[in-house]
Amino acid sequence: MAEIIIMPKLGFNMSEGKLVNWYKKEGESMTKGEALFSIETDKTNIDINATSDGILLKTFIDEGDVVPVTLPIAIVGAANDSIEAMVADALAQLGMEDDPSPAITIEEAPAATQRDFDIIIVGGGPGGYVAAIKAAQMGKRTALIEKGKVGGVCLNKGCIPTKTFLRSAEALKEVRESESFGIIGVDTSGAALDMGILQKRKQKIVSQLVGGIEGLLRGNKVIRFQGEGIVIDKNTVAVGDKKITGEYLIIATGSEAEYMPIPMDPAMKLFISDDILNLDYIPKDMVVLGGGVIAIEFAYFLASVGCKVSVIVRSRILRTATDEEIAVQVAKHLRDIGVDVYEAAQVKEVTKDSVTFEKDGKLQEVKTGNVLLATGRTPSTVGVPCEELGIKLNKGAIVTDDTCKTSVDNIYAIGDVNGKWMLAHAASMEGLVAVENICGHHSVMDYDKVPGCIYIQPEIASVGLTEREAREKYGDVKVGKFPLIANGKAKVAGDDRGLIKVIVEPKYNEVVGVHLYCIHATDMIAEAVVAMKLESTAEEIAMSIHPHPTVSEIYHEAFHAAVDKAIHFM
Ligand SMILES: Cc1cc2nc3c(=O)[nH]c(=O)nc-3n(C[C@H](O)[C@H](O)[C@H](O)COP(=O)(O)OP(=O)(O)OC[C@H]3O[C@@H](n4cnc5c(N)ncnc54)[C@H](O)[C@@H]3O)c2cc1C
Repeated sequence: MAEIIIMPKLGFNMSEGKLVNWYKKEGESMTKGEALFSIETDKTNIDINATSDGILLKTFIDEGDVVPVTLPIAIVGAANDSIEAMVADALAQLGMEDDPSPAITIEEAPAATQRDFDIIIVGGGPGGYVAAIKAAQMGKRTALIEKGKVGGVCLNKGCIPTKTFLRSAEALKEVRESESFGIIGVDTSGAALDMGILQKRKQKIVSQLVGGIEGLLRGNKVIRFQGEGIVIDKNTVAVGDKKITGEYLIIATGSEAEYMPIPMDPAMKLFISDDILNLDYIPKDMVVLGGGVIAIEFAYFLASVGCKVSVIVRSRILRTATDEEIAVQVAKHLRDIGVDVYEAAQVKEVTKDSVTFEKDGKLQEVKTGNVLLATGRTPSTVGVPCEELGIKLNKGAIVTDDTCKTSVDNIYAIGDVNGKWMLAHAASMEGLVAVENICGHHSVMDYDKVPGCIYIQPEIASVGLTEREAREKYGDVKVGKFPLIANGKAKVAGDDRGLIKVIVEPKYNEVVGVHLYCIHATDMIAEAVVAMKLESTAEEIAMSIHPHPTVSEIYHEAFHAAVDKAIHFM
């Protein structure tokens, strides 16, 4: 199989390399270990040897050229290898529009029945790019088609940008509270957030992460196609005027912001999450429509940096994201920092300067200049004509089984597009599961144990059933709780708000749900996920030694409480 040769990285600080000498010409064969080319480093010239027997099918750079490390410089392979797609991808990576020297033809093209790739993945978000890396690692000839930037919504306009915003809100809070930690001599009265600086910081973090993913894809020899993929049939995808074929397709096309079907005056300034993440100023006020994770993170951020925020939600906030008891505390906390939270409220109309809603049978109005639509996201199947392909849909989401297979045998769908758990880590795990199954291993998604996190302060993190769901399923469940006011590390950190709530089923005391509302919750929830994966009981966690002083001690306290009594709380 043909292989891309990249400019090697020969030192920690090496970012580009100069090709000094090609020892082979296009069309010449080589044996493993024979010198293929030499490059100049800041110290000396180094010969790079061929890693396998083969023919130098194509070179992309000339002697004397300088290219960044990890970019393609040549293709080596067998005489009849089809390298058209690899050449196109390499040229795209090198930013060359035209092929400087068309690839030499050594022999006939491969038989028409052979597909270009084993797996074609459409969409390079956390579902698609992880699937691509895994597929390549498992030896599959893998193509990844992305119309925007790799990393998808998560890296470019979701998880990472929002967390960058929230980190700045946290830093601002820390500065304002610094005197309570004994720090004096700092005038914090004018402390405020500069959105311009925040935008630059966000962009730098996103660029570094996107660059890292691009490097990983290159390093794993995933063939990239830039452009919108249009699925033509169950084995063919078009990108621009090119058509590529694959044994298997993985659809990873993600989701888009959902628009609410309510009357809206076009004069009202309407935002979706993408717009907030591009703001270079702090709006004076904002009405947030919706009460899910994205709505609450933005409401918290905006309120923390000086915007007057109102949240209007049809049922209650964080209804599907965490346990009701915790959601009630979060709503109170939001109100404490000045957010007006209207739950069980039905939006009726958005005029040019207000939002009207019905609550408790009465019409109410909030005056505002800005509205953030955060009522949910809808799967995106642009480029995938599901009905024509025979792919079943349910309310716009691609229907999949627990191996992520669709109703068409060789097509899988992962991430937001299947509408199951619209979370980055769920998308990535689905990518791994789909590839494992394509490679002949049996692997299934454990949808009962997908953690969910909310990055306001204190943080919220949950996995498994809420108390209400557990009671419906198991009847008389045991519930253990422990408040953060009794945790030493939380006091030291200066934030002892919140609680842990754990739920165990009555027969074996197996853990079925864990809900954290405390500092570091999002980093700590993984312990509960692993415990549930291993079918742990309350006693096993209660008797596991948790280091002191840490916030993680709340785990064993809560599990003691579930089956007996907490040690450090009455
Ligand atoms: C504001 C916000 C904050 C979020 N915060 C978190 C968080 O903290 N934690 C978390 O787990 N999740 C979070 N999410 C959700 C998370 O971003 C998504 O669940 C995740 O990105 C889904 O991954 P995906 O690979 O399925 O799709 P996406 O990330 O949407 O990627 C799909 C990719 O496919 C490309 N594409 C689509 N159609 C085509 C086509 N036809 N051809 C070529 N390319 C195509 C798109 O350009 C896109 O890059 C957040 C989302 C938002 C909006």
